[in-house]
Amino acid sequence: MFFREGSRETNVRCPFCSHEDSKVTDSRNALEINAIRRRRECGQCMRRFTTFETVDLIMQVKKRDGTYEDFQQEKLINGMDAACRHTRVSHDQVRALASQIKSDLMASGTREIESRVLGEIVMKHLQEMDVVAYIRFACVYKRFKDIKELVEAIQTISP
Ligand SMILES: [Zn+2]
Repeated sequence: MFFREGSRETNVRCPFCSHEDSKVTDSRNALEINAIRRRRECGQCMRRFTTFETVDLIMQVKKRDGTYEDFQQEKLINGMDAACRHTRVSHDQVRALASQIKSDLMASGTREIESRVLGEIVMKHLQEMDVVAYIRFACVYKRFKDIKELVEAIQTISP
């Protein structure tokens, strides 16, 4: 399965009696409309109904602590913007880069990415664009333990 369905699976009100707890009795993907069709049964009046629940076919980012969150392009942009402030990299370039990273990932069929890997991808791009932006981003992302690690990271940049 490409996507996680998240909390959308729960809390569908019965259209007959408005009871909040219904049980999914059948679930199938309607991928052509990015939706999941579910047969449900009300836990109170036992009537049956069908829902079409749309799914955002977007990526999940696995964070360091093992939890997931939706890939948020804005968050990526904000992180890169902070690193690129007062460098040659403009906000428009940051936005373009974020779009490119997202479409590259989508095109590769990836639906789940570790935040660490996402950070490496950003760093690879920034490294080519602006050294200062790269270092700033790397400082936040790699969480250097000491100055030695930072210096080593700087030394890996080819002139
Ligand atoms: Zn009901």
